[in-house]
Amino acid sequence: YPGDSLVDRVLTAALRSIEENEAELGRLDAVAADGDHGLGMTRGMRAAVVAARREPDTISGALLAAGTAFADAAGGASGALYGVLLAETGAGLSGAAAEDITTALLADAVDGAVRAFCELGKAEPGDKTMLDAIEPFRATLREQAGSEVVQAWRKAAGAAAVAAQETAHLRPAKGRAARLAQRSEGHADPGAVSFSLLVTAVGEELE
Ligand code: ADP
Ligand code: MG
Ligand code: MG
Repeated sequence: YPGDSLVDRVLTAALRSIEENEAELGRLDAVAADGDHGLGMTRGMRAAVVAARREPDTISGALLAAGTAFADAAGGASGALYGVLLAETGAGLSGAAAEDITTALLADAVDGAVRAFCELGKAEPGDKTMLDAIEPFRATLREQAGSEVVQAWRKAAGAAAVAAQETAHLRPAKGRAARLAQRSEGHADPGAVSFSLLVTAVGEELE
C-alpha cells in the first residue's frame, strides 16, 4: 500500500480508540485538573486525520500536517505537545516510503520527536505526565531496533500501557494537575493514558 494510506489507516484507528475512551480521558483529567482532555483529544485527532488526508504524497508530509492540525484543533498543553510529537516524527521519516520503514529508522524518528517534546514541555520522568508513558515507549522501540517493526511497535506500546497505569502512583509536578497534586493519587495521568491508547491502536492496525 502507498505511504498515504498507511498514515490514514493508523491515524483513523487511533482516532477510533480515542473516541471510544473520550469520557474516561475527561474523567481522569477532571480528578485534579479541568476535565477537557477527552474532548481535546477527539477534536485534535479528527483534525489530524482530515489534514493527513490532504497530504497523501508522503508519510512525512502527512504526519507534519497532522501535527499542525492537531495542535490547532486540540488546544491546551497536550495539544501543542502531541502536535510536536506527530510533526517531529514526520520530520524524522522525511523521504521514507512505507516499505523503507525499519524499526531502527522509526526509533530514530521517535528519539528526535521525544527530544523536541521534552524541550517544549520541560517535564522530567516521574512528573506524572504523558512523558512517563512516552519514555518507556521510546526506550523499548530503541531496544527492539534489530527486530521486525510491527512486533517492536507492539512491544513498545505494551510498555507504554503498563507505564501509563503506573502513573497512578506518581505525584504530578507539571501541568494543571500539579496544583491539586494529592487529589490525583491513585488515578492515572490522562495524557499518559491517551498516549498508550494511541500507540496501542496503531500497533493493532499495523500488519
Ligand atoms: P490542559 O492541561 O491544558 O487542559 P489537557 O487536559 O489536554 O491540557 O492535557 C493534560 C495532559 O497534558 C496531562 O495529563 C499531561 O500528561 C500533559 N502535560 C501537561 N503539561 C505537560 C508538560 N509540561 N510536559 C509534558 N506533558 C504535559
Ligand atoms: Mg485539561
Ligand atoms: Mg484545558
